[in-house]
Amino acid sequence: MSWLITYQRAQKRILRAVELLPAVKLPLDKARGLVLARDIVADRDLPPFDRSAMDGYAVRAADTAGAPVKMKVAGEIVPGREPDADAGPGEAARIMTGAPVPPWADAVQIVEVCRESDGFVVIGERVEPGRNIAPRGEDASAGDVLLEAGALVTPGVAALAASVGAVEIDVRRRPRVTIAATGDELVDRGSSPSPAQIRNANGPSLAARLQAAGAEVHDGGITSDTREEISRVISEGPSADAVVLSGGVSKGRYDFVKDVLEEAGADILFSGVSMKPGKPTTAAMLGGSLVFALPGNPVSCLVTAELFVVPALRAMMGMASPLPLIIRAELLGGIAADSDRTFFYPAKLGWQDGVPGVTPVRYHGSGDFADFAGAEALVIVPPQRDLQRNEIVDIIPLGSAGGSLG
Ligand code: AMP
Ligand code: MG
Repeated sequence: MSWLITYQRAQKRILRAVELLPAVKLPLDKARGLVLARDIVADRDLPPFDRSAMDGYAVRAADTAGAPVKMKVAGEIVPGREPDADAGPGEAARIMTGAPVPPWADAVQIVEVCRESDGFVVIGERVEPGRNIAPRGEDASAGDVLLEAGALVTPGVAALAASVGAVEIDVRRRPRVTIAATGDELVDRGSSPSPAQIRNANGPSLAARLQAAGAEVHDGGITSDTREEISRVISEGPSADAVVLSGGVSKGRYDFVKDVLEEAGADILFSGVSMKPGKPTTAAMLGGSLVFALPGNPVSCLVTAELFVVPALRAMMGMASPLPLIIRAELLGGIAADSDRTFFYPAKLGWQDGVPGVTPVRYHGSGDFADFAGAEALVIVPPQRDLQRNEIVDIIPLGSAGGSLG
């Protein structure tokens, strides 16, 4: 089986073939889940002024050395207004969180240790200079890069972009993906299948997964197992950034997808991966678009979409780390290796003594999408290695939006 390549090598070939999508400007609330095409730069210092971090009293720290001390309250400083309370030596000003600290003050004492009455405040404890003040520029200076292109637009990124005055944000546009399920046995989920027919499960699952990864999905429905039909779908490739087919890529008599790709002059990136499920997975470049031929079993289809299609889309979108996040977790049940290929075993996520853990789901192979549906992660089982309960193993959380931290 020397013609099978490892899944890591297959991923590398895909990432090498991918081209970046063009950048577009989108309103902040339309950019979530897309990837920054340009750095976010501070338009002014952050914080932009010496900011009170607490509710309390602005003071000269030296005046509190002999605390408790009684001081005249010279005024009040509130967020959003330039401080106008001018306090002489030995005086304080009431101040709120987020308000600018006036130049004469060098500390804020928290309200909890102060008592105010009749225009005077007793500062109950001494305070060190600088205390409870977030100084101007502490987080960043004007012109600093706050976040580099390649980052996923999360709610936190929206906060950052808004705080530097971005009304629109530069991101790479959504990849356009055409999906189609091949198989003479398939009917649409709205139809009632005859005894030998099954409903198309891969259309909805691929659409859901690829949309979650940021794609705009065109569902081409069901394609029969004929060369003509398959080449018709593949020929739509150039209008999409990627075409994802399921089924028809194995060694059966009616598995034509690979032949059709070759006849169409596609550049085959790989065909056959040393993994289980997903062995026949094929990827090719045709007329500038990526074509994926994924196996038809619903589990194989989802696993290979997670490992190959999602990273390709993320790379097109410019994500700095497009490959799936792999983390370590304690295995809370054994998994018998039954393959000379890397085995991706479905599992549930959980915690054991505060440490991330995974529990293998009951599962009897790649046709078993009923049990797979509850899975939250894939355990990576190296070829011919039995994994024991309590071993620390590599897992891929399923359906996550982010890329690898590594
Ligand atoms: P194939 O990859 O075409 O050899 O299909 C492998 C298995 O997956 C067969 O049992 C198919 O009936 C089944 N299958 C293929 N495509 C789909 C689909 N879209 N939805 C559900 N099952 C499918
Ligand atoms: Mg088939």
